Order: sequence, then structure tokens, then C-alpha cells
Amino acid sequence: MFESLSDRLGKIFDGLRGRGALSEADVGEALREVRRALLEADVSLEVVRAFVEQVRERAIGAEVTRSVTPGQQVVKIVHDELVRVLGEAAVAIDLNAAPPVTIMMVGLQGSGKTTTTAKIAKRLSEKQGKKVLMASLDTRRPAAMDQLRILGEQISVATLPIVAGETPVEIARRAAREGRLGGFDVLILDTAGRTHIDEELMAETAEIKQLADPHEVLLVVDALTGQDAVNLARSFDTRVDITGIVMTRVDGDGRGGAALSMRAATGKPIKLIGVGERMDALEDFHPSRIADRILG
Ligand code: GDP
Repeated sequence: MFESLSDRLGKIFDGLRGRGALSEADVGEALREVRRALLEADVSLEVVRAFVEQVRERAIGAEVTRSVTPGQQVVKIVHDELVRVLGEAAVAIDLNAAPPVTIMMVGLQGSGKTTTTAKIAKRLSEKQGKKVLMASLDTRRPAAMDQLRILGEQISVATLPIVAGETPVEIARRAAREGRLGGFDVLILDTAGRTHIDEELMAETAEIKQLADPHEVLLVVDALTGQDAVNLARSFDTRVDITGIVMTRVDGDGRGGAALSMRAATGKPIKLIGVGERMDALEDFHPSRIADRILG
């Protein structure tokens, strides 16, 4: 579907093998292709601009070793820089706090919050032996609360019983109490989302955060998010100070440029990726794999 960056740069640098250092002219043309590739991978324009400048600085004057072509050299520089910006190593969910350790899931409606809540709960309970309680705070959509309950039954993880008529803050309070009294290690709060960012959503999310005092606040974002990724990540980070990002639908067709946009905009680590609808389709984030994917 996409022409890989290596192929494009190969064409530009064709016949220039072994010329020593990369010249400014060579790099300029190559960077236009890098820019195009990143935009096609859905990286936000603002992030692309800053990124391309960083690559330019590293590329001009870079020695082309005899074993690679100039095109391969530029691809390597871009790849290394992508990995550097995306964050070098996988960062685990931090459970280092007094139980119940509270994890709050935030994000837009349809991003995969509820599914990811259950996937994380399954992973923590099955792989780390944690006693997990999940609670849905999505009072506007009873179907969402039911969805979490059904997933809980499916993965054998407890969910907070649904009580009609409570506000999200009341549910969060009840969840915290149940988490303490029930001897749970981890409490995961699945908050309501909207189809777009608005003040009401942000105010509600901030209020819940203040009350629940979560140890982790994970922003769930669809990998197919395009130019909106920067704004989305920045809005949530400014209002609720997220501790990490989960990118879902990495199994889809997209190239996952949103990862670069969100990481560059917030500096917060991408902790996990969703790679399917099944409950075990959750993986650690590996920067170099996403870098490869963005490069095509
Ligand atoms: P929420 O509104 O943010 O809670 O979103 P949901 O958790 O209900 O997810 C919306 C849809 O996306 C559901 O059909 C999920 O099965 C699906 N979904 C969630 N995560 C992934 C993923 O990583 N890959 C794929 N292919 N589908 C996903």
C-alpha cells in the first residue's frame, strides 16, 4: 500500500554509493521524502516539522560507512531518532503504591477504553496474581457499564456492582471503599468518554481524578487517530496529568504515527498497545517495532 522510506531514499541516492559524508543537498531531498512518509503514517504536521529538523541536524555531514548506501544511512538515522523520541524501552504499569493501586482509564468514546480496562485486568490477575476490581463510571451509557460487567465475567475479574442513579464521582467513591474493604490489589476505573473533547468531559474527568487519586492515569487512543493526536494528548495531559498512553487497534491498517505525535506532545510513555479485540490482544510497547512500522 505504501512505498517504504527505504525504497524512496534508495531511488534518490541511486548511484551515490560510497561518497563519504552526506551533503546538504542530498539530505534536503531525502528529508522531503522523510516528511512525506511521516505524514502518510499519520504523524501530526507540527511533530513532523520538529522531527525532520532533528534528523537534518544529525544527517548533514554524517559519514556514510562503506557497508551501507546513503539511503540506508538516512533510514538508519531516521529510525534511531524515531526510537529516541518514542522512548527507548518498554515502561510497565507502575503498581508500586499502597493497595488498592488505582488505575484510571481516560480517552474518547470508542477509543477502546472498556476493552483495554478488561485486558489490563486480565493481564494483572493472570500474569501477576493480582486481585483486581473494575468499575465503570460511564453513567451516560448504561450499555458501557454492562459491557464491562460482561467482560469481567468472561475473564473472571470482579466488577463493582452497578447501582442506578449514581454520579461518576459517587461510583468512584464506592469503588475505592469496595477496593479497600474487599482486599483488592488493583482498582481500575473506566471513565466515560465523548466523541470529541469538550469542557464538560474534561471537568468531569478532572473531578474524578481528584477524588480517586489514581497512581496511573492511562490515556487510551486509537492508532488511527491522525492530526488530532497532538491536541487530544495535550488536552488530557494538561487537565489530568496522564502517566502513560495505551494505543489501540495497532492490528489495523494504520501505521501508528499517532504514537510519535502523542509522545512528542506530552513526553509521556506509551506503555501498552492493543492488537485485537480478544482479551489477550494486549502487548508491551516496543519503540523500535513502531518505528519500523512508521517507516513502512
Ligand atoms: P470505549 O468506548 O473507549 O470503551 O471503546 P470499547 O472498549 O467499547 O471499544 C470499541 C470497539 O473497539 C470494540 O468493538 C472493541 O472490541 C474494539 N477494540 C478495542 N481495542 C481494540 C484493538 O486493539 N484492536 C481492535 N481491532 N479492536 C479493538
